[in-house]
Amino acid sequence: MAEIKETESADTRGLNFVEQEVLADLRAGKNGGRLNTRFPPEPNGYLHIGHAKAICMDFGVAEKFGGTCNLRFDDTNPVKEDVEYVDSIREDIHWLGFDWGDREYYASDYFPQLFDLACRLIREGKAYVDDQTSEQIAAQKGTPTVPGTESPYRNRTPEENLDLFLRMNAGEFEEGSRVLRAKIDMASDNMHFRDPIMYRIIKHPHHRTGTTWKVYPMYDFAHGQSDYFEGVTHSICTLEFVPHRPLYEYFVKELADETYCPRQIEFNRLNITYTVMSKRKLLALVKEGLVAGWDDPRMPTISGMRRRGYTPRSIRKFIDTIGYTKYEALNSVSLLEHAVRDDLNAIATRVMGVINPLRVVITNYPEDKVETVSMENNPEQEGSGTHDMPFSREIFIEREDFMENPPKKFFRLAPGSEVRLKGAYIIKCEDVVKDADGNITELRCTYDPETLSGLPGANRKVKGTLHWVSAAHAVDAEARLYDRLFDVENPAAEPDRDFRDMLNPDSLIVKQIKVEPFVAENAKPGTKFQFQRIGYFTPDYDSALGRLVFNRTIGLRDTWEKEQKKA
Ligand code: ATP
Ligand code: MG
Repeated sequence: MAEIKETESADTRGLNFVEQEVLADLRAGKNGGRLNTRFPPEPNGYLHIGHAKAICMDFGVAEKFGGTCNLRFDDTNPVKEDVEYVDSIREDIHWLGFDWGDREYYASDYFPQLFDLACRLIREGKAYVDDQTSEQIAAQKGTPTVPGTESPYRNRTPEENLDLFLRMNAGEFEEGSRVLRAKIDMASDNMHFRDPIMYRIIKHPHHRTGTTWKVYPMYDFAHGQSDYFEGVTHSICTLEFVPHRPLYEYFVKELADETYCPRQIEFNRLNITYTVMSKRKLLALVKEGLVAGWDDPRMPTISGMRRRGYTPRSIRKFIDTIGYTKYEALNSVSLLEHAVRDDLNAIATRVMGVINPLRVVITNYPEDKVETVSMENNPEQEGSGTHDMPFSREIFIEREDFMENPPKKFFRLAPGSEVRLKGAYIIKCEDVVKDADGNITELRCTYDPETLSGLPGANRKVKGTLHWVSAAHAVDAEARLYDRLFDVENPAAEPDRDFRDMLNPDSLIVKQIKVEPFVAENAKPGTKFQFQRIGYFTPDYDSALGRLVFNRTIGLRDTWEKEQKKA
């Protein structure tokens, strides 16, 4: 029998630890029984799958207990932020299946209130203007075991501090020449309490407030108060903020009382093998043209995964499976891929596409004859029906499905051997045609006319079944075959190597392929296909440029279970 922890009662089992904390607060009647969470992205990049984990938590816990979740753009650094990012963030959250209703907020909306609070703290002797450079300030910080040194400007009068702060915001001083600091304790065990910076001078225009402000609040001075101004009750974030929590509480206390006080709870970030999750690195990949953009299908971004053909359901399933803990971990990308395959297996339409086409001429099949064979759309989905596929004298098969000198147990095509063409006839390889260099250019085969469905030989058994397309009817397309972006399992754990040097040179392979006409007719954005025996594919929006383009979402072979057995 599973051990039940003391904190767990029958109805909290199955809840993650954050949900348990939230439930306990609700039951204790905190904040008048209200539940309000927020997802606080900084609009300085596109969202990635790590953010999806936070989104599922923030929106999920609100949904579960009848609360609400705000979308708050944490736009406190105008130098790095842009409306392009705001728009993409909105789109990605909606795509994942969450909605914030009319609760869209911006930290910049609170700049006036934050400024007023800063002025109040100055007047109360709790904040001061420091004229030192950031290097000098850093040098005085001390270490966790050595107390810091007090700034020579620490004991300015409130009047002088207020005057300087107002002039900082009036644009009188250069960037980097002065900051506003909280006057707390330079000897605190918690480094974040050693007179943290509250405001810095930035003269770059802000995407929402323009040139109104010349001083901008730091994260620690903005976040908790923004939570408070918005009525957020549970501020759920990742573990790196644990040491910031006392400071969060210190500033919030300046505003809150016993009837309402927001609370920070932390869970572990998502890290995935063979990729990076740092926005700084992702931005570098985009800016340096090492990928085709934020939505490059190799990127761990939500938009990249969408373009690649991942479904929101598979991403949510993956996040649900890995769960939330208080310990950092590295999750295998194979588990994510497993979830993607699982979902696509249920929904993708089965079709034929040949990635490495090799021409096959069926010499005993009439020249002008075209037959129509019927193909099941999805054996996993009752009532998904069938579609027609033309069959004719010349077809394409996969080059890898033929071997001139096959090893034992090669059940595909070889000189003199027979295979079934899926949904059609059995053919036998009679002859191999080569060019002057000895490359195979064509196979000459015969077919057994009795082996089509409904005919006496329909059930005749041969070992191999191949996918194929009719040469005269096939449509040319481009396939983009993606592999892992990095060829190192955990690039972030290699501090001595530049992450660019760990990129997988084979992460994108482009092929000119042949697809059955049905695929071309139904290649609408978002459509999910399973190219039989090959993998899952989805049309790319580059198809709008005139030539059909498909992204391979993922191959068919699942490596997750194998990885599990090894572990
Ligand atoms: P930055 O370095 O720009 O702050 P960030 O990844 O923290 O990068 P934010 O826009 O601040 O980006 O993140 C918004 C929210 O998403 C935060 O609450 C953050 O904790 C959460 N988040 C970010 N990365 C992950 C991750 N890998 N796993 C889980 N949550 C994450
Ligand atoms: Mg952040």
